Amino acid sequence: MLKELLTEQECEQLQTLIRESNTIICVGHQSPDGDAIGACLGWAEVLRTHFGKEVQIIVPDQYPDFLQWLPNTEKIIRYDKHREGCDWTLRNTADLVFCLDFNATSRVGDMQQALEESPARKVLIDHHLNPTVDADIVVSNPKASSTCELVFRVAWQLGAFEALGKHFAVPVYCGMMTDTGAFTYNSDNCDIFFIISQLLTKNINKDKIYRNVYHNFSEDRLRLMGYVMLESLVVKSDCHASYFTLTKADLKRFHFIKGDAEGLVNMPLQIKGHKLSISLREDTDKDNTIWVSLRSVDQFPCNKIAEEFFNGGGHLNASGGRLNCSMEEAVQIAEKAIEAYRELLA
Ligand code: 5GP
Ligand code: MN
Repeated sequence: MLKELLTEQECEQLQTLIRESNTIICVGHQSPDGDAIGACLGWAEVLRTHFGKEVQIIVPDQYPDFLQWLPNTEKIIRYDKHREGCDWTLRNTADLVFCLDFNATSRVGDMQQALEESPARKVLIDHHLNPTVDADIVVSNPKASSTCELVFRVAWQLGAFEALGKHFAVPVYCGMMTDTGAFTYNSDNCDIFFIISQLLTKNINKDKIYRNVYHNFSEDRLRLMGYVMLESLVVKSDCHASYFTLTKADLKRFHFIKGDAEGLVNMPLQIKGHKLSISLREDTDKDNTIWVSLRSVDQFPCNKIAEEFFNGGGHLNASGGRLNCSMEEAVQIAEKAIEAYRELLA
């Protein structure tokens, strides 16, 4: 049996909040990933099916191409494309906002102000450390594999699961899968496999979900991967660490689209004994904006490096951040970061 996430009182409060609300919004973080999109789609399905509510999903900007196939993505509203309407809804009509898969309002980018100023009640469902979102109910569990896992647990606890179908099970499975590298990290809790067994009762095709996400790239993306591993990767063997860069020119050469960089940062960890991998990717549009992704194995805390050197944070083994500088400076910072952790790495 699954351990219950909410106290009885929180359960009551959550159900009352939902029942009393007419305009409900689900919000995911900037550059939404499989977990953010999966949690929004899955939770919206709970609100529609179990509570009979109308729900809008708003995300700050584009999500990766390899998530486009998920059911109901056509209903997702992009803030960067519909700013005025979203601002108006958040400020005037929204009764209840679910903040999914982020711990701080700064993680929704340009949407931050509208979200903070929204008079709507807020509920946070998230698995990042140190939640700071000012919410009426906080469902935060940094030990969880994913926000999708938490969405499942809440739905289960509310007794909503039975009536739910594929439109819930597919995105929730997808988010759990993508946040654990297809169940290869952060996925030792046996509850995860209980949850999967339940999701499978909804007749989802988990092998197809895997292929839809991981075998859905363009030829350009495959060649980008080859280029990065051959030409761009800098390996610090004595530190069991590496970094690689993706400049604007590289991205242009391989006709980069959102999602094409996904997974590349995990690859250097295939080197025997490797502990830390850092990806430095220039923004395709903005100057002096470098997106940083970090991955580590076992107890090596890449989130500490993300906080100390890259204005970011995240989980022990998967974190990210951003730099406002040139790629040359970013490389210097990555070199410095690895050097600073030489003892722990070597
Ligand atoms: P990714 O490398 O896939 O962009 O991010 C890996 C993980 O780090 C994700 O769980 C993401 O939510 C988290 N993350 C990325 N950037 C930041 C950041 O700036 N701050 C925090 N706290 N977490 C981040
Ligand atoms: Mn997540």
